[in-house]
Amino acid sequence: MTQSKSKASSKKQAEVQRIIDTLSKAIAQHRLKPGQRLVEAQIVGALNVNRNHVQTALQRLSLQRVVTIEPNRGAFVSQPSAQEAREIFAARRSVERGIVEAISIEKIERHWDIINAHMLGELEVTSGTDRQAIVGKLSDYHRLLADICDNTVLKEIFDNLMVRSSLIVSLYQRNDVPTCQHNEHKKVLDALRLGDNDLAVKVMLEHLNNLEAELVLDDNQGLDIDLASALKDI
Ligand SMILES: [Zn+2]
Repeated sequence: MTQSKSKASSKKQAEVQRIIDTLSKAIAQHRLKPGQRLVEAQIVGALNVNRNHVQTALQRLSLQRVVTIEPNRGAFVSQPSAQEAREIFAARRSVERGIVEAISIEKIERHWDIINAHMLGELEVTSGTDRQAIVGKLSDYHRLLADICDNTVLKEIFDNLMVRSSLIVSLYQRNDVPTCQHNEHKKVLDALRLGDNDLAVKVMLEHLNNLEAELVLDDNQGLDIDLASALKDI
């Protein structure tokens, strides 16, 4: 490959990745809801990107099961079934167990400043009423542990599960109050700081069970949302 061709290709990759990241974030922040139609032309306009790159990004997201492409109808944010939702939670229990098992006291101490800052932020946000901010902050905790565990393969699987978890919460959450509890997050960290990974795993699994128990896994509905405003300022 010539240098200019390879440059063009890496520029394309970067732009496709940016589209994937933006759409994933919009889904994780519940700005885009399950069932939302993803009109290519609107994404092109909202993100000021090339249409071919949007198509590639949507195809990749469909391989990750975050987007569903329907022949002759276009692309939609996926609507995981109740069965898929249960499977995603089962997968999260396995993956997050692995993450918590891999976090040593040394890793906790090395990242303590950022962990502590997150926990203070979490406490502050959860005492307010901004649901979107609360959901985002509580999910960030799980992302933070995935970063700290320092295993890129686990992190990759985890990232996909978290985006799909956001879809599940959008579809099946029983009420408007996120109950991913700050106290449970703190208990996991307390155990990890003492080097008690068995206890940390136990608390994390209970926490994930509690989250799953908040869902009513039998309902299913999509919403119509303005794409341009959902993708703005991400
Ligand atoms: Zn949580």
